[in-house]
Amino acid sequence: MHELSIATAIVEQADETARTHGTRPVAAVTVRVGELSGVVPAALAFAFDVARDGTALASAALVVEEVAARAHCGPCDEEFAVGTPPFFWCPRCDQPSQGLRSGRELEITGIELAEVAG
Ligand SMILES: [Zn+2]
Repeated sequence: MHELSIATAIVEQADETARTHGTRPVAAVTVRVGELSGVVPAALAFAFDVARDGTALASAALVVEEVAARAHCGPCDEEFAVGTPPFFWCPRCDQPSQGLRSGRELEITGIELAEVAG
């Protein structure tokens, strides 16, 4: 289950960010997960619950932004969804097209720290 190592990396990075801002706990972490990244969002959410134990993210929410896999066809400038498994075929000019535009994302895009009273 490679989602666990990915979740651990996300937790470590967010935990480090939280530490550089003092002792505020992390309220939420937002990650972009591409359709072709090989990560299953539900499995990542489960792994995150395990990985966050005992860190600044202990009560943090994981927000997953799923990014659809899309390709771009140079000759006709058409952008189209490639689906999973990916099928690189331009629907407009009916030819193969390899210009992947999105879908392989796996990155933290936001870390929200909790407000501390006082
Ligand atoms: Zn085309």
